[in-house]
Amino acid sequence: MHLLTIETTCDETAAAVITDELKVLSSVVASQENLHQQFGGVVPEIASRAHVEKILPVIDQTLRKAELTLGDLDAVAVANTPGLAGSLLVGLTAAKSLCLALDIPLLAVNHLQAHVYACRLASGRDVFPCIGLIVSGGHSNLYRCNGATDFTLLGGTIDDAAGEAFDKVASLLGLPYPGGPSIGKAAAAGDPARYRFPRPLKDDRTRLDFSFSGLKTAVRYQVHGTGKLSDAAQLDEQTIADVAAGFQEAVVDCLVAKAELALQQTGYKTLCVGGGVAANGRLRERLQQSSSEGAYELHIPPMSLCTDNAVMGAIAIERLKAGKFEDLSLDVFPGLERPS
Ligand code: ATP
Ligand code: MG
Ligand code: FE
Repeated sequence: MHLLTIETTCDETAAAVITDELKVLSSVVASQENLHQQFGGVVPEIASRAHVEKILPVIDQTLRKAELTLGDLDAVAVANTPGLAGSLLVGLTAAKSLCLALDIPLLAVNHLQAHVYACRLASGRDVFPCIGLIVSGGHSNLYRCNGATDFTLLGGTIDDAAGEAFDKVASLLGLPYPGGPSIGKAAAAGDPARYRFPRPLKDDRTRLDFSFSGLKTAVRYQVHGTGKLSDAAQLDEQTIADVAAGFQEAVVDCLVAKAELALQQTGYKTLCVGGGVAANGRLRERLQQSSSEGAYELHIPPMSLCTDNAVMGAIAIERLKAGKFEDLSLDVFPGLERPS
């Protein structure tokens, strides 16, 4: 059985071929980083246009890498929620067209559930029930995950997502986009104790929410002084490294504290982490430490399965096995609201 998975929720055009035994036969990710770099963030219209250009070559390359042809496909799965409307539409339209032309079934993928499913794929065994921590460019959420597609939201960011904060702080510091890897790299040479940034909501044990916009503003004031913007280029390398390290430590402190609180409150013994920020070395280190001290099982996928990819679309195998197929009226749901 060959499932083609398609991912175009944000700024990666990706496809993969996966078997019903979750064996990955091929995976291709075409990043648009260079197109968005000059803007310091993803520009939705540029993203959707680039998806249109890349989607067919990416699918073609994916099939060739798997040494298959279109006729060998048995089903197509596509991430249709959440994400940028125009970007989602490109993947969905490609998936529907293939299903119609090849007369094969269509399956829907929830991109956030797929980020957690990357843990299932990486570990090679069942990880549910678990607490899911999704930390990405658009989301910072905690879920009670009773199954691959059975998620209950426990809390999330009330303003910026963690990845968004990384991207914005990187831009304040004059570091290249995407900010996550740039901050991680700069922070490695920095002293996290030189600047003490706020940890909003971290010690509030009544809620499982995050807030990162005040932290970003605190960095801005530290870097530029109150009100008056100076040029990031004036900052010396050590200051940039120290601010990056102090900021990263503050974000990681909040994420680890709330993940631990979610585990305590629910009594769950497994934490699965997904999304681009899960690629952050310091977060991975701190969670490893937390899991050995807190005696819970931790799953974080390898870097390539943290940022957007189509391999995690293998979650559609679960829907396929449950007979949850879609018809060609399937739409995109840019927000979080689509019931699974
Ligand atoms: P969403 O999954 O919410 O729809 P997205 O798909 O754009 O958003 P991902 O591709 O999952 O997000 O993650 C991208 C984000 O991860 C970016 O904000 C990027 O800066 C951040 N990121 C990537 N690598 C790292 C890293 N090593 N450290 C911290 N952040 C990182
Ligand atoms: Mg991306
Ligand atoms: Fe994502």
